[in-house]
Amino acid sequence: MRSSTSFSEADEVAGGADIKPDHASRHSADRQEDFEVLEHAGRAALRYRSAIAAGASHVPRSYQELRTAGDSGTPEQGVSAARAIEQLIAFAEPGLLATTGPNFFGWVVGASHPLGVAADWLTSAWGQNCGNPQTAPAAAVAEEVAARWLLDILRLAPDATVGFVSGTTMASFACLAAARSHVLLAAGWDVEAKGLFGAPPIQVLVSEEAHTSVFLALRMLGLGQERVHRIRTDGNGAMLADHFHMLLRDCAGPTIVIAQAGHISTGAFDPVAAMLPALRRHGAWLHIDGAFGLWARACPELAPLTAGIEAADSWATDGHKWLQVPYETGYAIVAHGDAHRRALAASASYLAPVGDEVRDPTQYVPELSRRARGFPTWAMLRHLGRDGVAAMVARHCRLARKIAARLAAEPAVSVLNEVVLNQVIVRFGTDRSPEAGDAMTQETIGVIQSRGQCFVSGARWKDRWVMRVSVISWPTRDHDAETAAAQILDAWRQVSGKAAASGKIRA
Ligand SMILES: *Cc1c(COP(=O)(O)O)cnc(C)c1O
Repeated sequence: MRSSTSFSEADEVAGGADIKPDHASRHSADRQEDFEVLEHAGRAALRYRSAIAAGASHVPRSYQELRTAGDSGTPEQGVSAARAIEQLIAFAEPGLLATTGPNFFGWVVGASHPLGVAADWLTSAWGQNCGNPQTAPAAAVAEEVAARWLLDILRLAPDATVGFVSGTTMASFACLAAARSHVLLAAGWDVEAKGLFGAPPIQVLVSEEAHTSVFLALRMLGLGQERVHRIRTDGNGAMLADHFHMLLRDCAGPTIVIAQAGHISTGAFDPVAAMLPALRRHGAWLHIDGAFGLWARACPELAPLTAGIEAADSWATDGHKWLQVPYETGYAIVAHGDAHRRALAASASYLAPVGDEVRDPTQYVPELSRRARGFPTWAMLRHLGRDGVAAMVARHCRLARKIAARLAAEPAVSVLNEVVLNQVIVRFGTDRSPEAGDAMTQETIGVIQSRGQCFVSGARWKDRWVMRVSVISWPTRDHDAETAAAQILDAWRQVSGKAAASGKIRA
């Protein structure tokens, strides 16, 4: 029988009257001090997050300043835990970007919801090694349950397998490892045993607009990033189905196709439904990079964008973007559990095999020891529910359209993409020369960043510089979007006013 000591009884034993004062040695006082850093960190986090939530303007100190503050030489003598945490806060806080705030529109990053953070703290405090159901029983169950909820909310096959990885890069790596195993086994080759040397060549078809992490995954899997067939795209960055069909016709043997749900700059979706019949006939594996775009499936009004995606063989998505779970959480979802396990399962004498009725979390990820990533995901899905996820995603997309409309109404400001999701790309200046437009776009971004009221960043799009506005932060509401649009236009007026004064553009 299991020990029946409950946590509260354990508390009594550790801290209660059973322990004679003379046993409460100096060690236990030290231990208490070590634990107090948790409270200290909690208070500092609360203070910081409250300020950011209130829209505190924020320009981080320079890298050099931070390095000076953070490095006083290799510590020869230690300091107390309390002192170390104070020093960490003092050095790091001035170097934080307000990623968690309502005014952050840079890159495509989530905003670490306080609940996700709380669950993540507990995950760290509980210190489970989610390498096995024996090393972390509750963590293994949290993953099993959260995976089921996730598949249901994303409307994917309930028997798909889910690996809790560090992000979409590793999710694509895990999924494509399963793909590699599956397509080669179908060609009579056991890649896990024999590797790629002498294997039948795999044809890989990728959008020319695929995210850089896809190429990284291909590189790590020995599939090469240069030997892929690149599928051409339309004006919004979505694959041209005709070009895909033409390339696939020329492919013989094991084939992997990588499509995208949500382009990193435009939010565009590849036309998966139109690709499916040819993929089926060919027997190719279809992988979807849906780091944020896959979440459109949770939202009835956006789901049509993702038509056909449920029929793919694997999907990579993030928890730390639209679900607002803190870093690092991504999900590697695979429709062929056998291929998923063949590619990634690890075994060791000290890890007892688990029965069929128990999900072994380590069979679906490339790591062994890792944090219990299921807890924050479980907590966020429990908190938001299907409705809450759908409402948040829909709101962000509505706010993106609102910002786009506001910016596009201004002379000499152009929104370059069709705003199908939460991404807006913008260019400034109606100048004759594209170089001048590049310069003014970059200058406008620079002014916005230096003011620190809101945050946007730049990217290259079709060989030119654009400003990218990504609405994906859970606290962002109408008022924040309106204010940000006004701040962006104000920065642009400063840049264009200066340019007009110096004769660079016509006023
Ligand atoms: C962010 C992103 C990735 C990479 O995900 P990480 O979580 O940063 O590893 C891949 N693809 C797309 C479309 C993304 O937006």
